Amino acid sequence: MSTKNNINTIRLDGGVLCLDFVNTISNRNKPELLDYLVGMKELLEWYNRMDVMSAKVSHTLERLAKGYPQKAAIVFDKCIVLRELLLRLFAAAIHRKAPDPSDIRLFNTYVADAYANIEVNWKPSLRQGELLFNAPALEQLIWWLVKSALELYTGNGLQQVRQCPACGWLFLDKSRNGSRKWCSMSVCGDLHKVQQFQQRHKKKPK
Ligand SMILES: [Zn+2]
Repeated sequence: MSTKNNINTIRLDGGVLCLDFVNTISNRNKPELLDYLVGMKELLEWYNRMDVMSAKVSHTLERLAKGYPQKAAIVFDKCIVLRELLLRLFAAAIHRKAPDPSDIRLFNTYVADAYANIEVNWKPSLRQGELLFNAPALEQLIWWLVKSALELYTGNGLQQVRQCPACGWLFLDKSRNGSRKWCSMSVCGDLHKVQQFQQRHKKKPK
């Protein structure tokens, strides 16, 4: 099946940076996965959509990626490993299971690296401090994801993480009664309705 979707048009239904990142694959329940993150170029494009970094920092990272392709490839690979790690950690939490100890160990190596580079800044507009990464390093692409994932994994928001039964995407259920089932009602929810309709009609004798 062909699809015109790409990293610049995929839906952002996760509700939080780290879950949208896990959702950069078309449909996790299909045998042939369509991965929208082909390489560093797509990763940078995706970040631009997420509004995490300033334009100035984005340009610096683009320049670094072009200037140091080997380093860029390593950072990209680490991001992909992190993406699959986050899927396993959150999927286990959704099913109220303990994570695999090796997954927690791996997550801790990511956390240690990110938090060795985190800074506190005073944000006058909010009149409070904020945590951010200032180092002009390509690893920022990993660190922001780690920060987002760590905040979600260790906070109350973890109870709101759900997995769409149709496509396997992860999302935050912010509905008042916690009853959101689909990543997108207009995509996976409607598809489910159509399938149910077709099944009902199949069973009817002619
Ligand atoms: Zn879905």
